Amino acid sequence: MVDFLNLKKINNCYERELKEACSRVIDSGWYIMGTELKNFEKEYAEWCGVKHAIGVANGLDALILVLRAWKEMGKLQDGDEVIVPANTYIASILAITQNDLTPVLVEPDPSTFNLSVEGISKAITDKTKAILPVHLYGRISPMKEIMAIAAKNDLLVLEDCAQSHGATIDGQKCGSWGHAAGFSFYPGKNLGALGDAGAITTNDDELAQVLFALRNYGSHVKYQNKYKGINSRLDEMQAAMLAVKLKYLDGETARRREIAQKYLTSINNPHIDLPNIDDEQEHVWHLFVIKTNHRQALKDYLDNNGVQTLIHYPIPPHQQAAYEELKHLSLPISESLHRSVLSIPMDPTMTEADIEHVINTVNGWVL
Ligand SMILES: *Cc1c(COP(=O)(O)O)cnc(C)c1O
Repeated sequence: MVDFLNLKKINNCYERELKEACSRVIDSGWYIMGTELKNFEKEYAEWCGVKHAIGVANGLDALILVLRAWKEMGKLQDGDEVIVPANTYIASILAITQNDLTPVLVEPDPSTFNLSVEGISKAITDKTKAILPVHLYGRISPMKEIMAIAAKNDLLVLEDCAQSHGATIDGQKCGSWGHAAGFSFYPGKNLGALGDAGAITTNDDELAQVLFALRNYGSHVKYQNKYKGINSRLDEMQAAMLAVKLKYLDGETARRREIAQKYLTSINNPHIDLPNIDDEQEHVWHLFVIKTNHRQALKDYLDNNGVQTLIHYPIPPHQQAAYEELKHLSLPISESLHRSVLSIPMDPTMTEADIEHVINTVNGWVL
């Protein structure tokens, strides 16, 4: 069986360093808000090319806290509209509704899976105050154009970078384009902790100061609470694991790109649509997502022939039980994507034989 993603194999590559870092944290006697976190925040900010990285407990909190901070700063108010792609993972939308803001679900460009400028333009109203582009599957959204339309309409931009660590446009990384960005380090993400973790990046000094407090009970100084904050800290153990794995992220991304190139040049089954890309650096291949009108048949066939697959995602957010209020929406592009997408194995530890097996098996599928 070719695994979809083998986390044990990935983390085994760095076993000695991870265990050393783990021992260092245990022996330090200091487990929350210490030198490991400071060190990782500094390194991650440098790697992203931004002034500030703020470690938090997970990717959802990263998004929630940025919107919350903008409310504290008077830049957003209850009921303001936030434009978000309709085909995103539900976390992007939860971050909006948990702040009593209004999500405006916009159809993606079906060829990139991301927001398009045309889609955004049509959705802007008097109440629009922010755009939340999601760099889905590892491909960065058209950030130059998005920042231009945001500037013209005086909108805030929060990038959801949970799937796109290191994707660039003209050499500039995601997480440094918008006014702020949220990252997830969930174990299966391209930079994965050994538990839950996340971070916010921004070049805005004032926003960073509010966020440093909000993640820690609203406090900059112990027992003095400026805001009604939450507890969403990135602990020392996960910060230490992430600092080890960050050193190898560029290498893993290069391997993901090699695997994707092999898939793109060698998969040629007429019943399958491959992702199309413009510039290799725009994509870090968190997922390699193909499309077919006969998804269940393909998935069953691949399961039976030793290729593990997953669906990202089977049900669109507006059809989830949690979002009764969005149920009336008709979003045919997203709905059709949710019926046709299938993610095939994408793991930097795949062997040449694994890649070849996936390609031959996919090409051998007949309807
Ligand atoms: C994973 C993910 C999140 C949430 O990250 P967690 O760390 O699991 O909270 C948010 N947005 C997108 C697009 C994701 O894929």
